[in-house]
Amino acid sequence: MARLASKSRLLYRRASRAIPGGVNSPVRYYPPYPMFVQEAKGSKFRTVDGEEYLDYCMAYGALIDGHASREVVEAVQNVVEKGSIYGQPTEAEVELAETISSLVRSMQMVRLVNSGTEATMHALRLARGFTGRKKILKFEGGFHGSHDSVLVKPGPHGSIAGRPSSEGIPLETSKNTLVAPYNDEKTAAKIIRDYASQLAAVIVEPVAGNMGPIPPARGFLNSLRKLTRENSVVLIFDEVITGFRLSLGGAQEYYDIIPDLTILGKIVGGGFPLAAFGGRREIMRKLSPLGPVYQAGTYSGNPVSVTAGLTTLRSLKRRSNRIYPRLERLGAFLSKGIKDHLEARKVLAQTSQIGSMFQTFFTSRKVTDYNSAKSSDVDRYSRYFRSLLTSNVFVPPSQLESCFLSTAHGEAEIEQTLDAIGESLRSLRG
Ligand SMILES: *Cc1c(COP(=O)(O)O)cnc(C)c1O
Repeated sequence: MARLASKSRLLYRRASRAIPGGVNSPVRYYPPYPMFVQEAKGSKFRTVDGEEYLDYCMAYGALIDGHASREVVEAVQNVVEKGSIYGQPTEAEVELAETISSLVRSMQMVRLVNSGTEATMHALRLARGFTGRKKILKFEGGFHGSHDSVLVKPGPHGSIAGRPSSEGIPLETSKNTLVAPYNDEKTAAKIIRDYASQLAAVIVEPVAGNMGPIPPARGFLNSLRKLTRENSVVLIFDEVITGFRLSLGGAQEYYDIIPDLTILGKIVGGGFPLAAFGGRREIMRKLSPLGPVYQAGTYSGNPVSVTAGLTTLRSLKRRSNRIYPRLERLGAFLSKGIKDHLEARKVLAQTSQIGSMFQTFFTSRKVTDYNSAKSSDVDRYSRYFRSLLTSNVFVPPSQLESCFLSTAHGEAEIEQTLDAIGESLRSLRG
């Protein structure tokens, strides 16, 4: 736990002068200051103050095999000796694209980029270029990176035309993004039908992962698939979290629904900056230099990230029969344990879990969308977060994030975590 004279505190002071808010991504800040990390291995990281924490943030889901996986480290060390970027194609890029295509059913063709933000930005442009339409539909609480078209919230009085959720974004841009509640099949259907002639794409996290994990209601994704197909709207699954996590083939395999375009990020880079978008050949062929939709990137497909990604995917493929059922089992065990603690201690909260994603919501409402997730008591979550820190367990500092298991987490560690959670909930009774 953060101490007064800690190195983290001193570093944070320096960081605050050099970097806005002291962090390079706002989710990393929590009061009074974040811990600074020295190194990490497997399921644990060590801070600059020498304290070790069991990690359930896992770089917001980027690491499915834990920190510093041996295989990835060795592969990257080998490749980086030979140059880290050429500005010319390599065989490894082709292998990675082929591997992705073979694992993720919708991705007949793939383009590699550097971040999830870039991937959704380009996929949306591609959908607009392909359809010649300009509006898109997203779901409230769905996160698709931090560019103008998707940093959008519903308009006033429940209006579906979005407005900017950040300063600096023109209202004219946000108006082209329509917003519906997640899991609200009826509203989505009405919007898709009413706006069919203007709607280029529907973008959705098949399992919402950025408001805690919220699974899709039965029929929700199917209905989106059917309506978008009927109205020639491009259906985009943002699988930046679910890709290679929910199953080897992502949520589209898990739910057996094939979107037109898919976004990958986080796990696909094996801990390095890499993301991808891909889908139907007919759509992907619109991309420059083949087609009229421009998209580019200096570091796209660089050999270091590609090697880390390829090594990770090959390893996951080799072990998939073992690891995905095990992650599912560990996730269910953890979630059941939390549920038992909540009941025993009479805490008004619930747990949500699917595969290796889980979260405890401090609300009595059933969490199915952004509004119900937002009804959580964030002060209680903060107290939960802090008290877990005193037991050397690190979960994401915000209520509206998912916690993640990795293949490096063992049963003994999970039991130890459940003890810590039980201890924490004792102080949060009511
Ligand atoms: C993290 C995330 C993104 C953004 O990816 P970055 O690499 O952070 O730009 C996009 N979509 C989803 C679903 C995410 O979880």
